[in-house]
Amino acid sequence: MTKALKPDAARVLIIGGGVTGTGVARDLALRGIPSLLVEKRDLAAGASGGNHGLLHSGARYVGSDPEAARECMEESALLKRLAPHCIEDTKGLFVAVPGDDEHYIAEFPDLCAKVGLPAKELDPKTAMAMEPHLARDVIAAYEVRDGTIDPFMLCLDNISHACSLGAQMLRNTKVTALNVEGGAIRTVSLHNEKTGDELVIEPELVINASGAWAGIVADMAGAPLSVVHSQGTLVITQDRLSARVVNRLRMASDADILVPGGSVSILGTTSVRIDDPDDCRPTVEEVDRMLDDAIAMVPILETTRYIRAYAGVRPLVADTNGDANGDGDSNGGDRSVSRGYTLKDHASQGVANFITITGGKLTTFRYMAEKAGDLACRKLKVDVPCRTRTEPLPPSDAGRWTDPRLGARTWVDRAEEGDVILCECEMVSGRVVDSMMQEMAQDSKLSALSALNIRSRVGKGPCQGCFCGPRVTAHLYDEGWLEADRGLDELKEFVGRRWRGKAPILWGVPLQQAELQEALLCGMLELERKP
Ligand SMILES: Cc1cc2nc3c(=O)[nH]c(=O)nc-3n(C[C@H](O)[C@H](O)[C@H](O)COP(=O)(O)OP(=O)(O)OC[C@H]3O[C@@H](n4cnc5c(N)ncnc54)[C@H](O)[C@@H]3O)c2cc1C
Repeated sequence: MTKALKPDAARVLIIGGGVTGTGVARDLALRGIPSLLVEKRDLAAGASGGNHGLLHSGARYVGSDPEAARECMEESALLKRLAPHCIEDTKGLFVAVPGDDEHYIAEFPDLCAKVGLPAKELDPKTAMAMEPHLARDVIAAYEVRDGTIDPFMLCLDNISHACSLGAQMLRNTKVTALNVEGGAIRTVSLHNEKTGDELVIEPELVINASGAWAGIVADMAGAPLSVVHSQGTLVITQDRLSARVVNRLRMASDADILVPGGSVSILGTTSVRIDDPDDCRPTVEEVDRMLDDAIAMVPILETTRYIRAYAGVRPLVADTNGDANGDGDSNGGDRSVSRGYTLKDHASQGVANFITITGGKLTTFRYMAEKAGDLACRKLKVDVPCRTRTEPLPPSDAGRWTDPRLGARTWVDRAEEGDVILCECEMVSGRVVDSMMQEMAQDSKLSALSALNIRSRVGKGPCQGCFCGPRVTAHLYDEGWLEADRGLDELKEFVGRRWRGKAPILWGVPLQQAELQEALLCGMLELERKP
């Protein structure tokens, strides 16, 4: 059934629930402009949930793109002040090993100085003492102000703050058509991916914040944007291998960043061209190539246990129309296409009320949202300045459980009688699951298991859903959150997604675990028989 909606309350439609879209929703809400954000899957389901979580100091870009380096330096300092609960201020090292480009190593301090970026030279022995897993033949080392940032918490806190100020959000809702008439988008067709419901809305302005899908969405309005899709694969180790972010001291390349996150480390990344951003999955070839390269910097990567690989897609915008901000990496291939952000006013293509904001980095999302918000205000003739530069991001109930320390701390401090641990790797209890389900309110029953995985640590530990998947599903049935076959359908979907990440790292213990999981899910639940 198609319902017509006149969203008097929502003047702006934002497409995409990643860090950019949720950042734009918050920016507009703080300016008093009501918006509706629609996301075809769930928050952080795109690149925002598929990156390293590195809060760039900017040092990675000093050689290839000083402008991007400066943006990262300024924005990371700002975020450390305004959203400290999402950040671990780990600091970072840049280290070189024999064979790395000596010219670049010699130039690095001057390149940092030109941008105004602090980089402290360390004696290699000091660096090796600070990070015992570093190679023993480090030849140069610098300390920089890198940190880590929780992208899930960031998206959840952004949208929670925006909604508390009047914004609205629909997840599992895909934009299927942008209907242009007389030089502007008049109506937008929405499709609920779970219920099949159709909706038509009439926003005054549409902001395309759909990341790697930006070209596909722009095409719907007949306003083409030439986007190249570059997949990056990352792998997660079972243990945290370093206290700090460890970067290879060379021009940005594959496998040169090891980022700690809670109790694990994340190694990345690659850059592989793909045609369809929906067809993004880590491959054995990428994982093997990365490990071969990275062990020169951190030798334990050869023998450590990996719990999962995953991938995200970067939108590399070739048709920048003069709007994109430069080149993030420049050692050839896809790394030489723009990794700066693109802010495009499609009025130049005959669609007056349509803006695209894409590309850039997690680290610079606030700045990108500010620029999109400024342009939106000009179009809507609203004269209110951006407030995200000074207004702290409030922590939200929706985002709190993504913190890897909170589950265990809550259990130890405040375990209630009758409560049980459902996810043993990450110590997530039944009460915590119930509180998240209540938080998701009206659409909590849609993709509950995947939604819990985004909003908490469920399924993110070493078992990767092997034990906690069936246990959480059973709990959701017991508590009435799920009924009929929905739980088994969801479990199958959830396990399928986790499997994509396990398939490329199947050797040693993970291989044994995969066999056990198959026995549990197929032997006990006959999941393989479900369509
Ligand atoms: C491998 C990799 C590693 C990275 N590492 C870092 C890092 O360490 N630090 C850093 O600062 N940056 C990093 N980045 C960059 C960072 O992840 C991105 O800049 C950022 O996440 C982009 O967010 P976004 O909201 O623009 O896009 P996305 O997060 O991709 O969000 C777009 C959303 O739009 C939705 N959507 C698409 N089409 C539609 C439609 N028709 N209707 C409704 N919704 C739709 C999608 O489902 C998606 O959720 C990395 C990127 C990659 C790929």
